[in-house]
Amino acid sequence: MATNRRFEIAELFPQPKEVILGEGISELAMDVRLSTSNVLPVQRKALRSILMLAGVRVVANKKKYVVDAQVLGPEAFDLSKVPAALQHDFYELEVKDSEVFIRTPYQDGMVWAAQTLAILFGMMFNGRAVPNMVIHDWPVVPNRGLILDANWGTERMASLDWFQALDSMSAMHLNLCGISIYDCCSSIRTSQSDRSSEFLLTNIHLEPGPNEPASKSRFRYYNVKYDRWYDRDDSPSLVENDNFEEVQVYGRERGVKIFPVMNLMGHSTLLPRLIPALSACDEKGKPTGYGLCLSSPAAKKALEEFIGSFLERYYEDGVEYFHLGFDDLSDIYPHAADALPESVWCKCSKCKKASHSKLFAQFLRWIVDFLTSKGVEKVVFYTDELLQGEKLLGADLEALLKDKDFASKIILDWEDLGNETKSKVWKSNDPKFKNVTAWQTPLANRGNYGAFSRNLENVDAVVARALKEKSDGVIARGQYDPAYLEQLALLGVRCWETPDWKEDTIDALRKRWAELKWGGVADRYLEVLDRLAALSNDSVHQLLLTWNYLGIRPGAKKDFLKAYPADALDALAAKKVTTAQVQKMADEAVALVEMTAGLMGEERWDDLHRISLQSILASAQRIRIQAEFFVTLLKVKEALSKKSGGSAAAQKLLTAAIPVLLEELKVIEENMPDSLMWITMQQLGLQKLFYEEFINDLKAKTPVAKLTWTLSKGWEVPEDL
Ligand SMILES: [Zn+2]
Repeated sequence: MATNRRFEIAELFPQPKEVILGEGISELAMDVRLSTSNVLPVQRKALRSILMLAGVRVVANKKKYVVDAQVLGPEAFDLSKVPAALQHDFYELEVKDSEVFIRTPYQDGMVWAAQTLAILFGMMFNGRAVPNMVIHDWPVVPNRGLILDANWGTERMASLDWFQALDSMSAMHLNLCGISIYDCCSSIRTSQSDRSSEFLLTNIHLEPGPNEPASKSRFRYYNVKYDRWYDRDDSPSLVENDNFEEVQVYGRERGVKIFPVMNLMGHSTLLPRLIPALSACDEKGKPTGYGLCLSSPAAKKALEEFIGSFLERYYEDGVEYFHLGFDDLSDIYPHAADALPESVWCKCSKCKKASHSKLFAQFLRWIVDFLTSKGVEKVVFYTDELLQGEKLLGADLEALLKDKDFASKIILDWEDLGNETKSKVWKSNDPKFKNVTAWQTPLANRGNYGAFSRNLENVDAVVARALKEKSDGVIARGQYDPAYLEQLALLGVRCWETPDWKEDTIDALRKRWAELKWGGVADRYLEVLDRLAALSNDSVHQLLLTWNYLGIRPGAKKDFLKAYPADALDALAAKKVTTAQVQKMADEAVALVEMTAGLMGEERWDDLHRISLQSILASAQRIRIQAEFFVTLLKVKEALSKKSGGSAAAQKLLTAAIPVLLEELKVIEENMPDSLMWITMQQLGLQKLFYEEFINDLKAKTPVAKLTWTLSKGWEVPEDL
């Protein structure tokens, strides 16, 4: 859809609030001298880094070509049009012949001026004239950013991945990045995994000893390049490389503040095992290895030590936000070890004496006081967890929210899981919450370790709601993946540009972004993403996914995990999905892989463009491999249903499928971002093992009715020969 908006400088994304064109054309040059006044060293570094990333050389000896940056204080500007909460990001950028002047009331605006200036230099490098002009600019949402969940993907991000993520966020004028340092998804298993998904992205002690309790993820995967299986236990990259501080500093130098995120209670299985004092107890007072005891002094002391040493180490001078989750405070949750219902609430003698609502309200008051005493300015809570469908918002919590002192120390983050029913009774501007600042959270690229899961509509709707309800922040949640740059762009532009333009539909905005970023291939780039999203969301594709989500299975102790691929085959049969339908999905995935490869060959892309295309290509390839696996299995089933010769035909199909699979896996290894590659190879490499076991079963003349359509229990990676 074409947009009617007229821009003075069409190249700017997001568009500034005001551009006043001056006389004539500027003469920007590749080499500039940077002169600053009253600019903090970190902001000066940000300016310098952003310009250098754009290809500008900052040199000492230029007299004529100067970027002059000054922080002048609010009284030097007419800020009458700028709401108070947005003045921190305000900047004035004047381009005048060979000189550029950046003037801001506060430090923060420097970075956004630099990002805009970087685009102007880019225009100049591309041979486009940059007119003399003055820009006045500010956002529409004060806090904008992304929380990266402690999950598959985030846990393997190396320094370079973080830098890239932060550069992409800064370019979109996002100013906050939450790093989840602790979370468990005990009900989510990777295919055939014997463990919960548990992640602790930091050490427990300030000075970790040799027996420091740690979080380890087990990866069992086949590496095509070296033709060997790996079975490795690895700590999260942030622990292994001890680089949280490096990431923090990098973020600061790009205008992106890093704040900690933690999920403390619901489906928390790792911390209560590593630090037993934290654990909820059963009726006999024995730690369950689950949840959190909200009342014992020992649990509070252990939390103080753990969180305290983290803050001491990384936030000596304090931190604006600490995001604390209490996900799923239910009485019945599938226990990670046996899928039996388990309560997250402690049953120790002290906890038993009070109602859940009272216990929880007391605990909240305590932890908020503790965190603020450690230099945290505001503690952020997700609302769906606190309100729990209004169950928990009892008199105790209500009284707490009315307490102005408490309310001034917290933020309620209105999470939209696409499940409106949960919190439909409450809105952030409800009088109940009038003392409390609100954030809003769209759910973005969640679980891109399993499937491509873009969610532009949710991002769009949540920013609109935040503006309507005058929320203080929009912080999306998910994982970082360069395949989702357009989603980041949509978040950035919605939080920055004037929202009143009816013609700024999602399609128009992403088209504008893509044309600037992807030039001649913009339409094809967006087409690939749309087709990939459609294919990934296809109901047949959803049946093929390998992830295990535990549900309560009454009486279950074992065998509660989804049998793979048997259950998926049953689901296909139940829905009467034909082999031709699955083949059609594979064909579409192949078309997308080829189209993306075509885009890669089109130009000499820079790193960010290249890795974005690579990740998209690998996402399409993942669907192709999944679909082809089931095409083979459906054909094998068909062959085995014949009266004679079925086994031989089936063996032939399976044997032929292995080398094809290996060739196709190679594409994942070469293109998937490293942070997602192992987990993806773990899911997909299992197909090789399944084929081999099944061929052996057929060779051993196992009767068709007795063939197992799952991997053998407790499988181990094959020994190296
Ligand atoms: Zn207790």
